[in-house]
Amino acid sequence: MSQENPLLQPFDAAPFSKIKNEHFKPAFQEAIAKAKAEITSITSNDEVPTFENTLEALEFAGETLSRVSSIFFNLNSAETNEEIQKIAQEVSPWLSEFSNDLTLNEELFKRVKSVYEQKENLELSVEQKTLLDKHYKSFTRNGANLPEDKKEQLREIDKELSKLSLSFGENVLAETNRYELHVEDEKDLKGLPESELENANLLAKAKGKNGYIFTLQYPSYIPFMKYAENRELRKKLSIAFGAKGFQNDEYDNQENVLKIAKLRHQRANLLGFQTHAHFVLEERMAKSPEKVNDFLNEMLEKAKPAAEKEFKELEQFAKELDGIDHLEKWDSAYYAEKLKQQRFQLDDEKLKPYFKLDNVIQGVFTVAKKLYDLHFKEVFNIDKYHEEVKTYEVYDGDHNFMALFYADFHPREGKRNGAWMTIYKDQKVKDGKNERPHVSNVCNFTRPTSKKPSLLTFNEVTTLFHEFGHALHGMLANSTYPSLSGASVYWDFVELPSQVLENWCYEPEALELFARHYETDEVIPMELIEKIKKSANFHEGMQTVRQLSFGMLDMAWHAVDPSSIKSVKENELKAFETTKLYPDVAENCMSTSFSHIFQGGYSAGYYSYKWAEVLDADAFAYFQEEGIFNKTVANKFKDHILSKGGTEDPMVLYKRFRGKEPNPEALLKRAGLLK
Ligand SMILES: [Zn+2]
Repeated sequence: MSQENPLLQPFDAAPFSKIKNEHFKPAFQEAIAKAKAEITSITSNDEVPTFENTLEALEFAGETLSRVSSIFFNLNSAETNEEIQKIAQEVSPWLSEFSNDLTLNEELFKRVKSVYEQKENLELSVEQKTLLDKHYKSFTRNGANLPEDKKEQLREIDKELSKLSLSFGENVLAETNRYELHVEDEKDLKGLPESELENANLLAKAKGKNGYIFTLQYPSYIPFMKYAENRELRKKLSIAFGAKGFQNDEYDNQENVLKIAKLRHQRANLLGFQTHAHFVLEERMAKSPEKVNDFLNEMLEKAKPAAEKEFKELEQFAKELDGIDHLEKWDSAYYAEKLKQQRFQLDDEKLKPYFKLDNVIQGVFTVAKKLYDLHFKEVFNIDKYHEEVKTYEVYDGDHNFMALFYADFHPREGKRNGAWMTIYKDQKVKDGKNERPHVSNVCNFTRPTSKKPSLLTFNEVTTLFHEFGHALHGMLANSTYPSLSGASVYWDFVELPSQVLENWCYEPEALELFARHYETDEVIPMELIEKIKKSANFHEGMQTVRQLSFGMLDMAWHAVDPSSIKSVKENELKAFETTKLYPDVAENCMSTSFSHIFQGGYSAGYYSYKWAEVLDADAFAYFQEEGIFNKTVANKFKDHILSKGGTEDPMVLYKRFRGKEPNPEALLKRAGLLK
């Protein structure tokens, strides 16, 4: 089989045209077997464990598996079908079994530990030390240093936790799916755009009903809350949305929340950490719960006066418009949208002609050239998984090949929502050769029509810059070890390269390069740019306070000993005390559907959204001080951040770039919160 399986032949660029679905399973099987054999040859080595024969060997093991996995899972996101999804369900347990076996491999851990214990005497480079630390911790953070009985306890907790978070997620999903707001009379739907009415009508028809159906899914829920004039219906839908997992029935998540928080705490204690947050933050730039709490409180102090002022203004606006005395949660999106329209009269249709996709792509390439001397050459001889994908070779100023870049811009059936950057091949230095990465951006941008080219909304423009910022982190990577390369950095650091690049979208000096009317070639008028900037800051105070409140709720579950918490709602009310603007709704609870932290991987990590904004604003302020295309600053950013990946502690890297720790002042200034 391996003879004709293209995934098991040597290849450089992914051989998409030769791959058939039936190749994946055998390729996974053989790649896993190969990786296992590589691990066995490490553990059965008679020589004394050294950095080279253990850590380096471990780091470079499983290369085939990593390439097969990246091709397969990237396709499962960008160009999937039922067959691929079925294969994913079959191979995912194989992969988790393989990685579990690895962290439980005692022979391997013994060797890693033996190297770790003499690390001070070995002459290791900074990157090698980081690698040693990372691998050592991947064992100890899973209990490798514990006595047998405690190991067993940890395994029990992990099993229980994965069941609980699964059940948490299933409840949220069931609650989301079972609710519908059925409106029969169109008169009750004043304010909603035609397209939303059409969607709601289609949904009703699909369910064999008359009229319109709205649901708790975002694409239905958000426009309703923004545009529906009928306050009673907004209230009804809003309360339903906030009551998910909090209705004392079979889908209730209160018990799950309490149990998850307690088990996470126990797990952290077993491993020698004070709380779950201490455990998580050990591997974050922020390092400790104290630092996170200080950060959240400091931001709150600055944002709260603005938030209170904005709230009063909004309340006044609602009173003048509709005689509303007290704003409730279900009023916020509706009146904010009305006020924003009144203030800026800025809609997507006005901006789109200036953002033809081809121009924006050339624009982001030009920005990369001016900053980092990168050159993009479209090539047509690289295999691709869909004809719409574009391929580019990337070169530096000395004509050195830096990366292969795939760009896949438009929505298709089989592509998941959103936009992302991913890797088909890691950058690494092996046997003295610097192997360059294969990087991909996948988006879902407006398609061209027969009359018009693809014209982007401003939001799509910033998304393109954002994902391209991640891509630069990949393309400029220059590490030795693949697991420390490019975007393989701490979670609260990974959004710096992407978010910082978004700043160029607001700068006249950058917009002049590409924001030209697709018919007249006229550069976007400066007053439109001013409006974009101002409207980006609309209600920044309230937005900030809202986001901080989520971070605080997260910490109220994870940075404390939760054993004395009896009521989910009470703990939540306490956590929201300092951030509250709208009256509480007794029927609602956020924690019981807060999937980010109780199902996904963001526990003790929600703060990182704001954290990353502080970093990007502070970094961009440096560019602004010296000029947004200043070569010295750009080189520093490239040399100390983009090329370094996760080879060193991010705070050290950041200070080397900036000369000091990040300061929230730049963000507060950009957001208009600094008076
Ligand atoms: Zn991102």
